[in-house]
Amino acid sequence: MPRAGGGFKAAPVCSGLLSNRHAAPSQIDNEKEMALLLDIKMPDWMTDEDLRAELLSHFPGADIRSGDNPGNPDEIEMLTVSNYLPGEALRYPNLKLIQKTGAGVNNILADRQLPESVLITRLQTNTSGTEMAEYALAYVLQEQRQIRTYHRQQANSEWISYAPRKASDTTVAVLGLGRIGLLVAQRFVDNGFKVAGWSRNPKNLDGVSGHAGADGLTRVLAGADYVVSVLPSTQQTRQIFAIDLFRNFEARSFFINVGRGDLVNEPDLIEALDQGMLAGAILDVMSVEPLPADNPLWLHPRVQLTPHVSGYHLGDAVLDIGENYRRLQSGEALLHLVDRKRGY
Ligand code: NDP
Repeated sequence: MPRAGGGFKAAPVCSGLLSNRHAAPSQIDNEKEMALLLDIKMPDWMTDEDLRAELLSHFPGADIRSGDNPGNPDEIEMLTVSNYLPGEALRYPNLKLIQKTGAGVNNILADRQLPESVLITRLQTNTSGTEMAEYALAYVLQEQRQIRTYHRQQANSEWISYAPRKASDTTVAVLGLGRIGLLVAQRFVDNGFKVAGWSRNPKNLDGVSGHAGADGLTRVLAGADYVVSVLPSTQQTRQIFAIDLFRNFEARSFFINVGRGDLVNEPDLIEALDQGMLAGAILDVMSVEPLPADNPLWLHPRVQLTPHVSGYHLGDAVLDIGENYRRLQSGEALLHLVDRKRGY
């Protein structure tokens, strides 16, 4: 599935009812002849038409257009994308808002031609974040219960048993304690694991030892059996997983990356794995997506890959696209506004 924009994969439509923060459709003021353009550019995941139909069923008065039929570019006030192309904002002289159909906005912010005046919003991630927590737990339990070993043994008719590793003896480090990281950390707490967390600002959470800063990161990595990255891609985090950081990993540890691929220096990761600095890597996100067929990560015996699927469904978060369009027109505060300076 093409993931150049690095956005969510999700079920195309949701059938959720309007939540109480979504205003009645009649409140959409369509007199200005301004429009919301849906140009997702990921048809395997969600078509503009499906999303348009879903939004129109909740916001029937809105002027919502699809990428293949945008009409007059001067009328486009809000653009919704999953895959954002450099310079795309410049096509629409009156653009005020770019809405991402997911959480990662790094590709939009990386656009040097993006006008300062354009606001950026993301979506809330309760549904996809819950799925990402499930993904991380699934891969951790796979190792705890030696499932890969038993698959190999079955192929050779081998009957050799191993004690399952206890959750209470196992530490999971969650890097990034935002909307998704919190769900991931909570999932491990609920399953009896020891959990350490790392964020920009220290956090005080039940069952999670909180850390921040460079020293905090070193402390979190020391003793961690699993390191789950749910960090956004920002100037500070890109290429953070490089050889010097991998030296701080436990040799027995597994690295699970569900944040963004460009956080990882991939040649360094391969070197770190080959030198035994960590035991394995589970990567849902890559620096180039789809990962080229000749990339050595594909065949590395200690790497397990998935095609950016850990967070898949949007649930009724998709309705916030229509709600933000309404709020933009009425001048109300937007939902899930991104801090452009901070980068997430
Ligand atoms: P949030 O913006 O809610 O949280 C980001 C977290 O990262 C915060 O805890 C923040 O710290 C922390 N952080 C940011 N910069 C640093 C830094 N320099 N040092 C330490 N911590 C830092 O994001 P979400 O949880 O909603 O999403 C995280 C990322 O997950 C997205 O940006 C996206 O890239 C990725 N994603 C991947 C998906 C997939 O399918 N694989 C699906 C959805 C999202 P603080 O709390 O102190 O601000």
